[in-house]
Amino acid sequence: MTAFKQAIADRSLTLWRNLTQTLGKVRVPSHPTSAASAGNQIEWLGGEVWQSVCPLCFCAENQTAFVEIVLGETARRLLGEAKITLVRCPACQVRYASPGCSVSYTEADRSALKFYLEQGAGIRSMLEPLQLADARPVARYLEIGCSYGFSMDYARRVLGWDVRGFDPGGLALAGKDQLGLPIENGYLDASAATGDFDLVFCSEVIEHIPDPQQYMGLMRRSLSSGGLALLTTPDGDCLRPDMPAEALLPIISPGHHVILYNARSLEFLLRQSGFTHTRLEQNGNQLRAAASDVPFSGSAVYFTAARYRDYLTQAVAQRPADDILYGGLVYRLLKEETNGGRFGEAQRWYDVLRDLYRDRYRIDIDNPAALVFQFPGAASFDEFGRRWPYNLAGIWYCRGIIQLIEERRPRDAAPTLMAAISFGEALRNQLRSIGTDDLETAQLCREAEIARISALAQFDAERALDAVFALRPGLDGPNSTRFRAHAQRARARLFADLINCGHHALAERLLETGPAPIDEAMRADDLAAICAWGIYLLTEKGRHVEAGRVFRRLWQAARESGRHNDLLWTARFHQGLAALYIGETDKAHEVAYEIAHPPPDWGSVPGHIACRIDELSKAGT
Ligand SMILES: [Zn+2]
Repeated sequence: MTAFKQAIADRSLTLWRNLTQTLGKVRVPSHPTSAASAGNQIEWLGGEVWQSVCPLCFCAENQTAFVEIVLGETARRLLGEAKITLVRCPACQVRYASPGCSVSYTEADRSALKFYLEQGAGIRSMLEPLQLADARPVARYLEIGCSYGFSMDYARRVLGWDVRGFDPGGLALAGKDQLGLPIENGYLDASAATGDFDLVFCSEVIEHIPDPQQYMGLMRRSLSSGGLALLTTPDGDCLRPDMPAEALLPIISPGHHVILYNARSLEFLLRQSGFTHTRLEQNGNQLRAAASDVPFSGSAVYFTAARYRDYLTQAVAQRPADDILYGGLVYRLLKEETNGGRFGEAQRWYDVLRDLYRDRYRIDIDNPAALVFQFPGAASFDEFGRRWPYNLAGIWYCRGIIQLIEERRPRDAAPTLMAAISFGEALRNQLRSIGTDDLETAQLCREAEIARISALAQFDAERALDAVFALRPGLDGPNSTRFRAHAQRARARLFADLINCGHHALAERLLETGPAPIDEAMRADDLAAICAWGIYLLTEKGRHVEAGRVFRRLWQAARESGRHNDLLWTARFHQGLAALYIGETDKAHEVAYEIAHPPPDWGSVPGHIACRIDELSKAGT
């Protein structure tokens, strides 16, 4: 079996590269802070008939109550209601809140500016829907519900558009002042009905509007003939009992969201408003739509990652460093560069933040072990924000990834990633105390846990194993399906690392405590772990038939993904080896032939596989 030992050694480098490529992506959905909600309870109903009239199609028959939200204290105070019922219209499929009360937007968001600028605003996810626009020329841009105005600022700065915005909130007032944007600090009114805007953008707005017909009428009157409307809204079809509460609450947002559309009811709304051409797409829990009176033609490149980086770089260059927004923009650049694997650039932005925060907060973020940010319960959210920048979890996560992948210093990466986790939990505790949460920070903490376990595995495999055993759902609650998926992902990653590093006894201990890292769906995320599993079966357990099956499925998954050339050939080669060991020499020779004459759509054969072709023609050992 020495050839196989060598195979493991060869493979480990490749696997590690695959793994780090995946790890290098900061897979963070940049959600804006959700109004998830301290103490709001969701109860699913049996579908009783509800006496009400559908606000979209005006049907009054068989309106069905399907969810009841018993409000927590904060929401109860704001809304003056004890509970809200969600009702579904069988005719148009729209879902709506009954009573359809909503909070006052002029009061709701004044206190959270610092958090929004440093951490909460998901600028990238605000801009991404611009990808849905077609190639028609745009000179004048209107944004309804523009909030602080990041999209307007991007449109003006990067795309050169003439911009205007409406938003009644406190953030809009701040953005108008700080970015110098032409924002009307109020609700959309007839003054916008000028009929000369080429593009009207409503990001996460229509779910707040109890009277969509009047709103869409105003919106249409603002559009030029041949103009384009872009909308995003949460997908009402995501309201299912199998969805975790942390995903449901931001969609329901009691008191904020009064009508929830699915693809069909959104299409209904657009057609009812008079649009004759529509484009709809689903993106995670979000629906995105484009609508117009003239046909779509081609597609535009109003949003690309490169343009977004240009925007951030330009915006940073024009902000004074003592401005809160400056640190927020530099942080978003750090995230983009880390995400793209440009670690040199990322490190430069990290250095900027280190110096900035040393002056502003008197803290040394290079030395997180010396910092204590778990305050006793008395500290308020505001006090927390005076002492700390709200984006520290993400900054330490990015720094930890740089240490792990670029600098190859796992011993330094582990404590940095631990600091990211601890700070993220402290921040979320503070947010929850004021009735909200931050999904991006929640996801960052999970990514940091996975990366930290990978770091530990490289210098102290026992501790890595203990870290996996010690994973706890924490703030997400014991029944969180997201936590279970996270824990399984951590186990799969660690299993791959342990096999790669030759820690077979520890890998066995991991297997004793849960299922093998095999997922029926074979998510791209798990392919490295599945490869390690196959090698383990083949070389350690002598379970050649089973190993052959694992490698066959892995090979198929790699082919379907079209992105894993190295894994594809590695899987195929080991499938051939497994065949050889169970006496199927024809199959082994077939694989050898493929390596010698690669099919055109499989990509080139990696060197570490090509040089082992002879092993497939030998007799089994
Ligand atoms: Zn209806």
